[in-house]
Amino acid sequence: MHCGDQLSALIPEGDTRERLVCRECGFVHYLNPRPVAGTIPERDDGRLLLVRRSIEPRAGTWVFPGGYMDVDETAEEAAIRETLEEACLAVADLSLLGVYTRPGPGVVVVVFEARAVGEAQAGDETSEVGWFRPEEVPWPELAFDTTMWALRDWARRRGFEPPLE
Ligand SMILES: [Zn+2]
Repeated sequence: MHCGDQLSALIPEGDTRERLVCRECGFVHYLNPRPVAGTIPERDDGRLLLVRRSIEPRAGTWVFPGGYMDVDETAEEAAIRETLEEACLAVADLSLLGVYTRPGPGVVVVVFEARAVGEAQAGDETSEVGWFRPEEVPWPELAFDTTMWALRDWARRRGFEPPLE
């Protein structure tokens, strides 16, 4: 990928994991996960916001607003931007809820609790918005494992024990 020679799978000196390495020039091709940032916005009445996805993967399922970070923004800025894009909603008072990893696809999701400011409506990549009390969350219709893990933590912090399946 650097000098044009073939890469070989081997453990570089001083490393502990197998990498794709060029024996010719020493280039190491690291495969790193991609960070995603999102918010779980909460209204004054204690309801949280979810959006229904209108695009693949997992079109039709519910998720909190979030997406891939850009290189020139912080996790907080990315989470606020994605919430505006997907739910047309401004959020404030961000506080870290948790970090959730899907090792297979190589995704690290940074999730913030946030205070909703104003009204929400469907935006880019979404067909619908909904406000849910912890016991009303559509658990069987959530988009990803990370969605479920974060919402479970959110609900438990509010004294609601979410279903395990
Ligand atoms: Zn090379």
